[in-house]
Amino acid sequence: MLTLDSLSKTYKTGDTALTEVSLSVPKGQIMGLIGPSGAGKSTLIRCINRLVEPTGGKVILGDVDLVKLGKADLRRQRRRIGMIFQEYALVERLTVMENVLSGRLGYVPFWRSFLRKYPPADIQRAYQLLDRVGLMEHASKRADALSGGQRQRVGIARALAQDPDLLLVDEPTASLDPKTSRQIMRLLTEICAERNLPAIVNIHDVPLAQQFMQRIVGLRAGRVVFDDAPELLTEDALTRIYGEEDWNAMRQGDEDQATAEADSRERLAALVR
Ligand code: ADP
Repeated sequence: MLTLDSLSKTYKTGDTALTEVSLSVPKGQIMGLIGPSGAGKSTLIRCINRLVEPTGGKVILGDVDLVKLGKADLRRQRRRIGMIFQEYALVERLTVMENVLSGRLGYVPFWRSFLRKYPPADIQRAYQLLDRVGLMEHASKRADALSGGQRQRVGIARALAQDPDLLLVDEPTASLDPKTSRQIMRLLTEICAERNLPAIVNIHDVPLAQQFMQRIVGLRAGRVVFDDAPELLTEDALTRIYGEEDWNAMRQGDEDQATAEADSRERLAALVR
C-alpha cells in the first residue's frame, strides 16, 4: 500500500504545485490521475520517488516513509518503484532483452552491469516477462526497430524486472494510437491485478481513464478535487476538475477528432468503392 499524507510541494520559484495531498492506494489498485495542465500531476508522481523533493508531508510505501530517507537508503527503496514513461526511455541501440535486464541494474553489482553479465536467474525471468507482455519473438531485436506499442511493452517488462512494490506510470499512451492505447491499458490493468500491485497512472485521456481505472483522482491547482469510482466522474465532477471553459474545449476537441476520423473513414470507403 502507498500512502501520501499531506504531501506538499512549492518550487523555489514560489510556484505551489501540491497542497496537502492525502490519499492511499491499496495493493492491486490502479488509480488514474487526471487534471488540467499545471494541476500538479507530474509533480505528484515525481515526489513519490523523490525525483522532485517534497516540501512537506509523507510518502509511505509499506511501512517506510520515503521522504525521511538519506541517499543510500533512498537508492535501495527506489528499486521498489517501477516507472513507466510516455516516451518509453529505452536505450535505442540495445536489444529488447538488454533493455528489460536494465531493470535489474539496481540489484546487480556495477561491474556485472558494465560487462552486461546478468545472473542466469535474471535472464530467465526477463524471458518470462517478455513472454507475458507478448514480445518473446522480439527479444534480440534492437529497441529502435520496434513500434510504439511494442516499445511501451518493453517499458512495462523493464519496470516489472525490478520486482516493484509500486508502479508509477506517466502518460503511458500519449504517443500511441487509440487501439494500441487500449491494448497497453488492458495489459497494465491485468498485470496490476495478477501481481497485486498498486499503480498510479498519470493519464490525460479521460475516456480511457474511465474505461480502465478502478479509481480516479482529479487534481486542480495542486489539490484533490475528486477521488472516486470512474462511474461517478460526471459532467459536474469534470467541470470541477477542469473548469467550465477547459472541459468544454476538451469535449469539443474530442468531437472534432471523432468527426475527422469519421470523415477520413468515409473518404477511404469512397476510394475503395
Ligand atoms: P501537470 O503535470 O499537471 O501538468 P506539473 O506538476 O508539471 O503539472 O506542474 C504543477 C505546477 O508546478 C505548475 O504551476 C508548474 O508551472 C509548476 N512547476 C512544475 N515544475 C516546475 C519546476 N521545475 N520549477 C518551477 N515550477 C514548476
